[in-house]
Amino acid sequence: MRDFTSKTVRLVKPSGIRAFFDIASTMEDCVSLGVGEPDFDTPWHISVEGMNAISAGKTFYTANNGLKELREEIARWSKAKYDLDYTADETLVTVGGSEGIYCALCGCIDPGDEVLVLKPCYVCYEPDVMLCGGVPVTINLTAENEFRLTPEQLRAAITPKTKILLMNYPNNPTGAIMTRKDLEAIAEVIIEHDLLVVTDEIYSELTYGGEHVSIASLPGMRDRTIVINGFSKTYSMTGWRLGFLQAPIDIMKQIKKIHQFLVMSAPTPSQFAGIEALRHGEDDIKRMREEYDNRRQYLLNEYRRIGLPCFEAKGAFYLFPCIKSSGLSSDEFAMRLLKEHRVVVIPGTAFGECGEGFVRTSYAYSLSDLKKAIGRIEAFLESLH
Ligand code: PMP
Repeated sequence: MRDFTSKTVRLVKPSGIRAFFDIASTMEDCVSLGVGEPDFDTPWHISVEGMNAISAGKTFYTANNGLKELREEIARWSKAKYDLDYTADETLVTVGGSEGIYCALCGCIDPGDEVLVLKPCYVCYEPDVMLCGGVPVTINLTAENEFRLTPEQLRAAITPKTKILLMNYPNNPTGAIMTRKDLEAIAEVIIEHDLLVVTDEIYSELTYGGEHVSIASLPGMRDRTIVINGFSKTYSMTGWRLGFLQAPIDIMKQIKKIHQFLVMSAPTPSQFAGIEALRHGEDDIKRMREEYDNRRQYLLNEYRRIGLPCFEAKGAFYLFPCIKSSGLSSDEFAMRLLKEHRVVVIPGTAFGECGEGFVRTSYAYSLSDLKKAIGRIEAFLESLH
């Protein structure tokens, strides 16, 4: 029989993260720094609005692009927070940021278009570009430059086929952020080469000691940027599957069709919960951010104390320590740490080859878990000498 599956799908590599959780799930007393999702409960007042929606029978499709009230709140929120000028009609409510990323790429890629992907990066970017018929072109970022993109690196990667720069700050897996000045230099090159930016800002509310700046707010960038954001990280709502995409109206008109034919609309009770989050969730964001920051500082200091160099990542909830001094590859390090000391970390190579020599560790875990993990990592490092 023929292989009925698509050649493109066959080329997509499965995520390198899963393997570690599969092993960990068979072990007792594991400590995980592996998962990329908040460990806080969804704030109760937000959940109540979701439940109220169900009680009131609001369990049917909404308009394809989402509840008007929610889109208006999103437009207000993103203006107030990041000075973004997208209207409610330039806002699409999606099934998490994940669907937003796919819709943005699917709506803008023609076969053979090159999309610049900054590695190490979130695991879905390269597969999504490929599934949309694009050609992912890697730009390898470096620890020396704290995993920020420089205009020189960008210029060097641009060819006549380049159409899109896909970026993600605050970043998964490195925790890196980019300042306004960093972004201004990038915007200049983007405009000069007439490129589109797809910016995944899902961690925008998780920055420590510096405001998040969206590249879409810089002069000349609004009309050539698609912004992805969502509720998963900001409000600890991963399972509600709620995100949004903002784009200039002409791009939005095309993207909306993909969303409509792919998912119809985002989950209705979640959309009602989302309105509550945007209206009354500010204190929750602040509380969670402060807690993440305490953990971040603890973990950073501890890595340095036990001899793992780590730049001070100021965003998201990840640290990306360098493990080269262990003499092991990222993969060996993560696998042995798991099997011998029952701690889950993710090899940097799961996010691109340039992640070799690093591991991704999440601090979306309690301080007591982090302490336990550090004790075990320290014992592991000692066992190697
Ligand atoms: N982008 C990045 C960088 C992420 O880390 C994640 C979740 N891990 C997502 C997008 C997807 O988030 P969601 O679909 O839950 O909004």
